[in-house]
Formats: sequence, C-alpha cells, structure tokens
Amino acid sequence: MSPELIETLETGLRALGLSPTPTALEQLGRYCDLLLEKNQVMNLTAITDPAQVVRRHFLDSAALLPTRALQGKRVVDVGTGAGFPGLVLAILDPSIQVTLLDSLGKRLDWLQEVARDLGLENVTILLGRAEEIGLEKQQREQYDTAVSRAVAALPVLSELCLPLVKPGGLFLAMKSNKTDEEIEAAEPIIQKLGGEPPFVMDYRLPGSEVYQRIVTVFKGRPTPPGYPRRWSKIKNP
Ligand code: SAM
Repeated sequence: MSPELIETLETGLRALGLSPTPTALEQLGRYCDLLLEKNQVMNLTAITDPAQVVRRHFLDSAALLPTRALQGKRVVDVGTGAGFPGLVLAILDPSIQVTLLDSLGKRLDWLQEVARDLGLENVTILLGRAEEIGLEKQQREQYDTAVSRAVAALPVLSELCLPLVKPGGLFLAMKSNKTDEEIEAAEPIIQKLGGEPPFVMDYRLPGSEVYQRIVTVFKGRPTPPGYPRRWSKIKNP
C-alpha cells in the first residue's frame, strides 16, 4: 500500500477515535496488498481499488472498536469471508482473541497464511457452518462477543450468532442504516435465543457520506436447546 494511502488510513482511524500503532498500520498495508494480489485468483472481495479497501473494509471493520467493548474479549467473526471485520480487529487490538469462522475452507486457508505472514498470535481459524458449530459443546456459548458483517438478514444472522455467545455477552451485527424492517422482524427470534431487544448505533464512514449501523444485542439468558435449527428451518421458519 502506498505511503499516501497509509496516511489516509491513519487519518480515518483517528477520526474514529483510534490511535493505531506503526506496526498495526504496516500490517494493514500488507493485508491490503495480500488481499488484492490473491483476489486476482480467488474470489475474496468485489472491491479492487486499494483506497476503497481502506474505506469500505478497514475503516468500516474498525468502527466496532471505539466503544472498547471488545478489549480483552474472546470474539467470533461469523462468516468472516476475507477477514472482515475479524482480522482488522485482531490487527488493531492485540488484546482481542479473534476466531474467524467461515464455511469456505479455501478462504480460511488464505486467512491462516495472512495471519502467519503478519505474525498475529491472537487469531484462530474455525471451519464450519455457524448453525452446526453453535451446537458443538466446545463452541456453544463460549464467546464474549459474536460479530458479523454482510452474511445474512438479521433474523437469520441472529440464529447463527447468538448460540455462540455466553449469557452476559454481546452480538454485534454490522449493517447498513436502512435496516429498520429487518431489525423489527428479528425481535421475536432474538428474544427466543436469549437476547434482549436490539439497540442501534449509526455512524458515518470517515471520508465519505456513507452511513452504516451497528446493531447490538445483549444476551441475557442462555439459548434454549434445539437452537440453532437446521439451515432449511432457519431460512424458512
Ligand atoms: N464478513 C465478510 C465481509 O464483510 O466482507 C464476508 C461477507 S461474504 C458476503 C459472506 C461469508 O459468509 C462467506 O464467506 C460465506 O462463506 C460465509 N457464510 C455464509 N453462511 C455461513 C454459515 N451458515 N456459516 C458460516 N459461514 C457462512
């Protein structure tokens, strides 16, 4: 990544209230280079312009950090794809233990290589479908927080994510700001899965007029047995 773009990245992160270390900026630069290089042979992202990778992937992912809610926590990124938001969180805050979960092994193999290349020691890779992983004893209700971006509408996403979260933990869904209807539609299943009514925080992506949204669900009670259901049931309840 060019020095100018590193500067744009740093300015954007500071606008979010973050103070990135030189190491983190260097790691993000290298991650961008590796992403765009691999994207030529593997479908990782629709974005091919490094400036847009900075804004749409890095700064958007980093928007989860300013509240400090994730500091020192065990976090699972459900449907991480090319590592968003999870890998960005792991780079910017080494105190977060991040598990990158996806059902596509090839993407995870690449993420493992990137984590190794960047020398990250706080990243774990987990292959599988979230609705199956959420039934496994060693994964169910083991995370302080589940995060997810661009995976499914909130009623479906809640069932993929909330079973992985400990009671007392959080589920943070990264959405556009035009999601009032899906949030309302998700309320019954969130309640069924042990979550409290969601609350919403909208933010502007630094350097743009794009507004995004973090939907926060506090998990007050355990998820009852029988959830998550099979994929066909989750999709067509
Ligand atoms: N979160 C990334 C982002 O914001 O760029 C990737 C989004 S990509 C559109 C959706 C990802 O979710 C894909 O990598 C897909 O394999 C994964 N995914 C979809 N359903 C899943 C499931 N049930 N369990 C695990 N991963 C899933």
